[in-house]
Amino acid sequence: MKITIFGTGYVGLTQAACLAEVGHSVCCVDTDEHRISQLNQGLSPLYEPGLEALLRGNLAAGRLHFTTDAGEGVAFAKVIFIAVGTPPDEDGSADMRYVFAVTDTIAEHAVDAKVVINKSTSPVGTAQRIKAHLDAVLARQRRQLDMQVVSNPEFLKEGSAVDDCMRPERIIIGIDGEPDTELFRELYKPFSRNHEKLIVMDSRSAELTKYAANSMLATRISFINEMANLAERLGADIEMVRKGIGSDSRIGYDFIYAGCGYGGSCFPKDIQALQRTAAEAGYHPQLLEAVESVNHRQKHKVFENIKRHYNGDLNGKTFAVWGLSFKPNTDDMREAPSRVLLEALWAEGARVRAFDPEAMQEASRLYGARLDLHLVDSKEEALDNAHALVILTEWLNFRIADFGLVRQCLHDKVVFDGRNIFEPLHLAREGLAYYSIGRAPVG
Ligand code: NAD
Repeated sequence: MKITIFGTGYVGLTQAACLAEVGHSVCCVDTDEHRISQLNQGLSPLYEPGLEALLRGNLAAGRLHFTTDAGEGVAFAKVIFIAVGTPPDEDGSADMRYVFAVTDTIAEHAVDAKVVINKSTSPVGTAQRIKAHLDAVLARQRRQLDMQVVSNPEFLKEGSAVDDCMRPERIIIGIDGEPDTELFRELYKPFSRNHEKLIVMDSRSAELTKYAANSMLATRISFINEMANLAERLGADIEMVRKGIGSDSRIGYDFIYAGCGYGGSCFPKDIQALQRTAAEAGYHPQLLEAVESVNHRQKHKVFENIKRHYNGDLNGKTFAVWGLSFKPNTDDMREAPSRVLLEALWAEGARVRAFDPEAMQEASRLYGARLDLHLVDSKEEALDNAHALVILTEWLNFRIADFGLVRQCLHDKVVFDGRNIFEPLHLAREGLAYYSIGRAPVG
C-alpha cells in the first residue's frame, strides 16, 4: 500500500519506518528542511532504539523517502497520516495549528479522494472538525472529493517506539458512520498476526481513549508519589509498599514507581488538554487537577531535599547530575524533572556537572550557553570536584555505581536520588548520606 505521513517526529518517523519495514511504500513530509536532509542521508534526528537501522534499510530498499514538498506527499498516496505535534497552547488546550495546516495542505493539493488518518493526539471532535474543514475548503473552490477522516491515536512509548509499533497491544480505529474497516485491516495486517488488534469505534470515543489512557497512567504515578510523601512522614518505605500493592493482580507493578515526577511531551500536555476539554464541556475534572498538581509538587521534591540538607545555602556548590532525559532510552527533555531541578539550582547560585547517555545534544541546545553548566562525557567525570550527586533518570547503566569513587570524589559525600535506584542501607554502609523518595534518609 502507498502511504504518506505528515510529520517525522517520534510518532510519524517510527510509524513510517515500521510500515516500510513490513512492505508498504511510504513518503514522509516535514516542514523542517534540516530534518529531511538528515533523514535522506539515513540519519535519525532523534534517538530511538532500532530506528536508524530501519530507516537505512528501507531507504536503501526504496520503500521510504523523505521530502519537504507537501504537494508531492499528497499526490503520492490515497492514505495520508497526520502525525504532527499538538503542543500545549497558553491556556493548556492542545494547539491544533499544525494539524490544521496539514489539513489545508491536503485540501489544497488533493485531486482525488483521500483517507486522512489522524495520529496526532487531538481533542475530542477533531476528526469531525478536519472532515468539515476539508469539505468547506473544497466547497469554496467548487470542488467535490469524498474525503474520509479517521482517528487512529498512537500509543507508542518513547524509548521503545519501534517495538511498540511493531508489536502494538491494540490499534484503535475511530470511524464515523458505516465503518468500512477493510483498508485498516490491510494496512495493519502485518502487525496483527497473533490475534486481532483492531478495536473499531466512533472517532470521538477513539480520541477520548487516547487521553483517558495517558490520564490513567499519570494518575498511577501521582498516586504512588502521594503515597511516597505520606510514607516519608509515617516512617514507612514506599519500595515495600510498591511491592505489596503491585502483587495484587488488580493493581499490577506497572507505573507505580515513586520518583521525581512524570515529564515528557505527552503526559503533562495531555492531562492539561483534557482538563480544558472537560471545562469546555461544563465539567470540573477534580481528579485530573489533583494528578497535575501532585506531579508539579513532586518535580520540586529533589530540590527540597537538597535545600534542606544544605540548610538553604547552595551558593557556590557543585552538583553532579546523572540523567537529564525525562525517562531512560530517550534523548527527550521536554517537561523533564531535570529541567526543574537544574533551573532551581542555578537560581540559588549552584553549578552543575551533568551527564546523560543520550540527551547531551539536547541539553546543549537548551542550556549550552550557561557558564554554570558543564556537560561532561561520562558519569564518572560528572563527579569530579562535585559536592553532591543527584540522580534524575533511571538509565540502566547508573544502577551499578563505583561507590568508592563516588565517596572519594564528592566533597560532601551525599547522594540525592530522584528514582530510588539504590538501597539506602547499602549507601549508608558505603559511607554516603542518601536521600531518596518515600524512604527515610540515611547517613
Ligand atoms: P514531534 O514534535 O517529535 O514531531 C512533529 C513533527 O511534525 C516535527 O518534525 C515537525 O517539523 C513536523 N511538522 C509540523 N508541522 C508540519 C506540517 N505542516 N507538515 C509536515 N510536518 C510538520 O512530535 P511527536 O512526539 O512525534 O508527536 C506527534 C503527535 O503524536 C502529538 O500529537 C503527540 O501528542 C502524539 N503522540 C506522541 C507520542 C510520543 O511519545 N512522542 C506518543 C503518542 C502520541
